[in-house]
Amino acid sequence: MDSRENGSETSRKVWDMNLEKAKNILKRVSDVPMLEALILASFVFNEPKEKILIHGLPKDEQSIRKFSELVHKRSKGYPLQYILKRVEFMGYEFYIEEGVFIPRNVTEELVEMATNLIRELKLNLVADIGTGSGAIAVSIAKMTGVRILATDISEKAVKVAKFNASRLGVQDLVVVKKGEFLEPFLNRLDEIDLIVSNPPYVRKNDEVSKEVLYEPEEAIFSGRTGLEFYEEFFRRYDLSSKLVLMEMDELEKEGIKKIVEDEGKVIFLKDLSGNARFFLFLGKNVLNLLEKVTQLLSFRIDRG
Ligand code: SAM
Ligand code: GLN
Repeated sequence: MDSRENGSETSRKVWDMNLEKAKNILKRVSDVPMLEALILASFVFNEPKEKILIHGLPKDEQSIRKFSELVHKRSKGYPLQYILKRVEFMGYEFYIEEGVFIPRNVTEELVEMATNLIRELKLNLVADIGTGSGAIAVSIAKMTGVRILATDISEKAVKVAKFNASRLGVQDLVVVKKGEFLEPFLNRLDEIDLIVSNPPYVRKNDEVSKEVLYEPEEAIFSGRTGLEFYEEFFRRYDLSSKLVLMEMDELEKEGIKKIVEDEGKVIFLKDLSGNARFFLFLGKNVLNLLEKVTQLLSFRIDRG
């Protein structure tokens, strides 16, 4: 064995030790600590994680220090997506940064239902309220080619959503403006067929995971009941000719029913785990679509 081999073997051992240590630290916050350790290493060393796993890495004090720093940051619950500045949603890569809500997997199911409705009912104009990173609006535009008006009260979210629309090549379809609810597009209200949203809906005093505490409060919480966003939205606009598809907490069914029941018809929709996590509202003038949408979303409908 020559001295070079010897050297690389030593650095491999040092590396394995670092990786093992990172894994143990990340166990505090992750169910897949080894995977997260490898993802962080891949990010810091700019090498594919498979390569790192098989060959280890050359000894590079500075990068190892950076790696260790990020492992500690992550171990306090800081979201991985904010470190990597990216998140996958509907198979597209979105840019993300601290200050903007991290898109969740369950919301992909809302996008799937929305695209189904848009295609089958040949809808022309869609609005996305509280667009955050633009995850919903940009994905729908990519998948259907429909035009979307998106809003958010957060300046940072508006910037990030615009950036994602351009990066994914749908800047001509997605218009993003800062403002609450549909206020920035009041002059186009009549044209909108479908309004989608993953609004804040968590009750103010509810306990949330460590990760969520790093996300903007106004993206998560909606008053003491979790229902304030829906209450204000349904109070503010004439929705009699609109379809509205929104994400919700399964415990909010009764609350939402009360808010919308005088305005039209509401159908609760299940996620893939069988929980009512979305609702579709049909205004009084579009109740003729009820049969068709019931067919289209039949396996999603919550009949409980
Ligand atoms: N749609 C994105 C997603 O699913 O990843 C973000 C959803 S996040 C749960 C809710 C977003 O709504 C946040 O970006 C927040 O800033 C925004 N928001 C909260 N209240 C709002 C309001 N009244 N009008 C417009 N946007 C609002
Ligand atoms: N479900 C999110 C959570 O992780 C909250 C999403 C929302 O309020 N829209 O708590």
